[in-house]
Amino acid sequence: MFATIKTPTGREYEQPLGLFINGEWVAAKEGQTFEVINPTNEEVITSVQEATEPDVDAAVAAARAAFEGEWSDVTPTNRGKMMMKLAELMEENIELLTEVESLDNGKNLNQARFDIQSAAGCIRYYGGWADKIHGKVIDTQPGTFNFTKSEPIGVCGQIIPWNFPMLMWAWKIGPAIATGNTIVLKTAEQTPLSALVAATLINKAGFPKGVINIISGLGKTAGAAISSHMGIDKVAFTGSTATGRTIMKSAADSNLKKVTLELGGKSPNIIFNDADIDHAVDWANLGIFFNHGQTCCAGSRIYVQEGIYDEFVAKFKERITKNVVGDPFDNSTFQGPQVSQLQFDRIMSYIEHGKAEGATVECGGERHGDKGYFIKPTIFSNVTMDMKIMQEEIFGPVASIAKFKTVEEIAKIGNGTPYGLAAAVHTKDLNTALQLTDKLKAGTIWVNCYNMLHYALPFGGFKESGIGRELGKEALSNYLQVKTVAINMGGHNVFIGK
Ligand code: ADP
Repeated sequence: MFATIKTPTGREYEQPLGLFINGEWVAAKEGQTFEVINPTNEEVITSVQEATEPDVDAAVAAARAAFEGEWSDVTPTNRGKMMMKLAELMEENIELLTEVESLDNGKNLNQARFDIQSAAGCIRYYGGWADKIHGKVIDTQPGTFNFTKSEPIGVCGQIIPWNFPMLMWAWKIGPAIATGNTIVLKTAEQTPLSALVAATLINKAGFPKGVINIISGLGKTAGAAISSHMGIDKVAFTGSTATGRTIMKSAADSNLKKVTLELGGKSPNIIFNDADIDHAVDWANLGIFFNHGQTCCAGSRIYVQEGIYDEFVAKFKERITKNVVGDPFDNSTFQGPQVSQLQFDRIMSYIEHGKAEGATVECGGERHGDKGYFIKPTIFSNVTMDMKIMQEEIFGPVASIAKFKTVEEIAKIGNGTPYGLAAAVHTKDLNTALQLTDKLKAGTIWVNCYNMLHYALPFGGFKESGIGRELGKEALSNYLQVKTVAINMGGHNVFIGK
């Protein structure tokens, strides 16, 4: 159930391969496994156990037993302490987790280290919330005493994507566990490894068996078994809008489990004539090329006001020549490979569409090297609103740039896709910034920056970018249900009153 793996730094470690159910490593009941591919060289790293429906059943049974049993006796303070301990253990193992993440996902070591640090921070942050969840006393009329309790929902199914494997693990586990739920979490089939390594820390942190169950498996089998499971009370998903729709339908068709969704985006990054152009170029670069463009809130639509358009495009092109594309284990690398052959093919097909639709390729537009899923950072200019590359989420290192004139025009264009995850405005004029923060329909709006996420700040989508908010205090409510208790103290009919 373990394999000895050597990372490119020469580190040897024991990679768990099993399903982590009821605090133990178990084999998949139907005996299936799937291969995990290294996106840098397209070679098989190892094979992990593949959960199917019977394994999801077993994980749900363990989570249910923990929820009704031992976990319900743990005080909020002790829940918090276990989470703090888990965060500490993640930090103690940061170098191992970083290397596993880079190996499996292809993101560079610095980025992976930042992700793990932030994942640990997120678990600690929610550990701090565990004993600060209270109900209210609500006065209605004399002779009554009314109060509310915020209770956990129960067994939560959580389905995460491959772009930030450890970070999404933490964003999901944090608020669910702080509020007293139990979990069956399925990682993405492209990137199961870091979550399994992190699962080895769960027992050490002191969590009772069955509170956090981590399974590897495919979307159409294990993922579908979670979203349709009658024993799961809530499903939380991060991934594509198409899969989010399927999950919501299956939740509706089964037991109407509660649903939160963090989905795709096509976020506008808007740069005004008066912006500090060099800063705007840096933020635009980070906005789209960070994590190889595999970010749901990526600033993939860049709109530049006409007065600085040409200068911006020239400087942006120049800036991205400094984005070193290559081996994620090389410290100078900014951009590693895309995560899989499938993603590589999808992105290349969008690039071909952009060319065919008549957008100008300023740079890139082709694969990098001949091994691994590398794509050159690509900039399209003169992109019109109706083009596929301006409307659809590409999820790769592809920026689409267009020109605009006025605040009114850009507010309309900015809102011109079905998505509403994020937006950014670069300007020195506070009025312009505030007008647009009002008008843009997006869950997060950055002013003079991009991708400034923090676990204390709520994050989520307007429109087809999602339902509910992750992170911050807001995410707690995804995992709580309010119980109202109304007590008649006087023994008389309170409807009549005095
Ligand atoms: P991508 O197409 O980039 O792989 P998805 O949104 O399909 O993105 O995948 C994100 C997560 O959703 C993964 O964990 C995947 O296994 C899971 N998933 C995919 N399809 C389904 C499905 N039909 N039901 C439940 N989960 C699914």
